[in-house]
Amino acid sequence: MRTSARVVVIGGGIAGCSTLYHLTQEGWSDVMLLERNELTSGTTWHSAAQVTNFGMNQTMVGLKSHSIRLYKELAEDPDYPITYHHGDGGIRLANTERVMEGYRHFASMARGMGVEFEVIDAAECERRHPLITQGNLLGGLWDPLDGDIDPAQLCQALVRRARKAGAEVYRQTPVTALRQLPDDSWIVSTPHCDIQAEIVVNACGYRVNEVGAMMGVHHPVASMEHQYLLTEEIPAIRDAGHRMPLIRCPIDDFYCRQEKNGLLVGFYEQDCRTWGMDGIDPHFVNALCPDDLDRVTDVFEGAVARIPALGEVGIHTVINGPITYTIDGAPLVGPVPGKRNVFCIIGLRAGLGEGGGHGWLLAQMIVHGEACYDTWILDPRRFTAHGTAELTALKAIEDYQNEFRFHFPHEHRPAGRPVKTTPLYPVLEAEGAVFDVVNGWERLAYIRPDAAFKETHDFRFNETFDVLARDVAAVQSGVGLTEVNGFNRIEITGSGAREWLDGLVCGKLPRRAGRVGLTYLLNDKGCIKSEATLAWLDEDTIWYGSAAAAEWHDFDWLSAHLPKDGNVSLRALTNEMTILLLAGPKARAVLGLVARGDWSASAFPWLSVRRAYVGIAAAVVMAVSYSGEEAFEIHVPISQSLSVWRALRVAGADHDMCLFGSRAIDSMRLEKGYLHWKADLITEFDPFEAGLDRFVDLDKAFLGKHALMARLGSAERRQLVTLAVETDVAPAHAGASVMVVGRVVGTVTSGDWGHRTGLNLALAYVLPEHAAVGTAVSIDIIGLDVPARVIAASPYDPDNRRLRALDT
Ligand SMILES: Cc1cc2nc3c(=O)[nH]c(=O)nc-3n(C[C@H](O)[C@H](O)[C@H](O)COP(=O)(O)OP(=O)(O)OC[C@H]3O[C@@H](n4cnc5c(N)ncnc54)[C@H](O)[C@@H]3O)c2cc1C
Repeated sequence: MRTSARVVVIGGGIAGCSTLYHLTQEGWSDVMLLERNELTSGTTWHSAAQVTNFGMNQTMVGLKSHSIRLYKELAEDPDYPITYHHGDGGIRLANTERVMEGYRHFASMARGMGVEFEVIDAAECERRHPLITQGNLLGGLWDPLDGDIDPAQLCQALVRRARKAGAEVYRQTPVTALRQLPDDSWIVSTPHCDIQAEIVVNACGYRVNEVGAMMGVHHPVASMEHQYLLTEEIPAIRDAGHRMPLIRCPIDDFYCRQEKNGLLVGFYEQDCRTWGMDGIDPHFVNALCPDDLDRVTDVFEGAVARIPALGEVGIHTVINGPITYTIDGAPLVGPVPGKRNVFCIIGLRAGLGEGGGHGWLLAQMIVHGEACYDTWILDPRRFTAHGTAELTALKAIEDYQNEFRFHFPHEHRPAGRPVKTTPLYPVLEAEGAVFDVVNGWERLAYIRPDAAFKETHDFRFNETFDVLARDVAAVQSGVGLTEVNGFNRIEITGSGAREWLDGLVCGKLPRRAGRVGLTYLLNDKGCIKSEATLAWLDEDTIWYGSAAAAEWHDFDWLSAHLPKDGNVSLRALTNEMTILLLAGPKARAVLGLVARGDWSASAFPWLSVRRAYVGIAAAVVMAVSYSGEEAFEIHVPISQSLSVWRALRVAGADHDMCLFGSRAIDSMRLEKGYLHWKADLITEFDPFEAGLDRFVDLDKAFLGKHALMARLGSAERRQLVTLAVETDVAPAHAGASVMVVGRVVGTVTSGDWGHRTGLNLALAYVLPEHAAVGTAVSIDIIGLDVPARVIAASPYDPDNRRLRALDT
């Protein structure tokens, strides 16, 4: 057995096999897979192994398309053909118009990835799947490439190819310990020998946290028991002359596919159960949990009502096995937070369908530092310290119970909430607050107009339209107060801080102490990694502020690039501080009532920062705005937020101060053309494509500059544009396809109504030939072909006169 490898992949299920194979495809052959038992002896061996192309965002659709392409290629390999049914097609059912509209949105989004879904009515569903009934059915989404694959053959085929390319696979080789050396390489211990590896990959399925513990990490992954059954032969299937399409049913929480001449039917029962929370028997290998069909009676009855033939046929096998879930249902594929040279590919709940694609993206991340798609929706750093085992279990149960029910826009499900709050949570709740969840934080979205108000989550504009119009008008004409909690904040200190940061961001740093600047950090490909507001507080202290979600992501990036001489230090302040935000033309007057000193526009202009007492609290005040109105961020210790809030409420009383929330800000920021990290700012585009030319200084050296220069001539590039969308029915949702005479020319990244401009606005990356102001396009919004035109990037106050407190 070899005692060193560039990469050691731990675990021989689909996740590990796919990663190993793709590493060799990316050109790394000095790679090794260690499996404690036999390949596929975890969850993979008993998987129902359905392979769909359906995903809820473009990265998911793209990676699933890769799986399908790869699996077809493997199936057709004459040397080792494998069983893959990839033309059966599949239908996701719906019994409400809201869900049908969701499917139309997902079809629009998938079209941008070259995938054609079809939204069909109930009669067509029955025509394509003659065993189903039409009762309580409106229609469904048709995925033409849906199918199923033999899981063991798939893994063997991947390993076979990886071995041919130089990879090694050791079975019956459990990893028993992991130790990191000072050069960040790893010693991987097994009963046979120790192996030195530059990089380690955790692909251990439901044993993810056994291996996590070996490196001092807890991953937010929990297992659920999951059952399917196999029926005896059904004559109608035997005699059909074609294979039956797959069915996924969010109405009755089951799925169904053909297996031989019978059916395989799986259930997502409400009375579901976590598994392995108190540890996993080391002998649970190639094993199943005990059958428990009583638990699925409710969903079984629904399945029989939809497929009556199920009620007339015998059951010959029941499979009950553990399946892994994360906090939001998507896997964790990427770097392990806070660690060097270790990656994971875990929490796969649909690993057979997705595994090909996940291994592909992970191998790219390992070899090239970044994948071809933005992988934030898979990034292990999207959950932070709140991702405990208990929260994960609650969210896993909730997700399992809603397996086929996608999230509507702004839908945040209740399990485990509130996870993270500040002292203002009950205060805002008493005011009628509705909260959205950002990195676990409950953040004020808006205040309900009355106690009976209830939001219907929808792809169309909903009841909140008038509420947000009210909030925006109040902020535009007077002053609004809100809390922006969870905002990511890192204190950077040391004599080398400025010089170091200057090499990390692609634009100019704030000119002097007391100034704030917006900056961008690029990756090694010259594309956008992060967006940071840098506030130069005093001589050697700079605050780095970024999106709440970026807490661990950005800290990892900054830590990884720290100079070795110790001249720069980082301190995370995110969980110590919160922001109280005043916005609107009267904000300055209110600020002046709670803090001593000269707060006039000449003494404290836009993009200033100052330490001050606000009320009784030592605060940092910044004149920065994400709304386009004059605004002041008051950064205070969380422990003093209530005290400062009360002071601001008293001071604002004479100015008719309103409370507003993040939804109004999100609408206003679009009118200013301000971008949102991981919506409009993703690793697939460089700052010039994002229209951020003024934030790039090509006269200096910075990380990613050479790659950025090299990208400039690429034919693949896109341009971010602002679109005025000619409908008041629905916003253009992220992912919607931008079309010109039936051809996809771009993809929407954000959309919302601009209440100050009266425009339905969208941001989209389009082919450069469609980027000129005035260009006519259309957008497929929930199946409607909506005309739109390119307009200038900042339709509200383009000269920033309001931010500068100049006459408008
Ligand atoms: C009943 C059921 C039906 C399913 N149906 C579908 C479906 O239709 N479509 C779909 O896409 N997905 C489906 N899934 C999910 C899918 O099967 C899983 O997502 C997938 O198999 C997970 O693969 P994995 O490689 O992550 O984990 P596993 O297959 O569990 O592999 C992990 C491997 O790591 C090894 N390992 C663990 N610890 C160590 C160690 N210390 N050292 C060395 N090796 C170690 C284990 O022995 C194991 O072989 C289903 C799951 C279940 C339970």
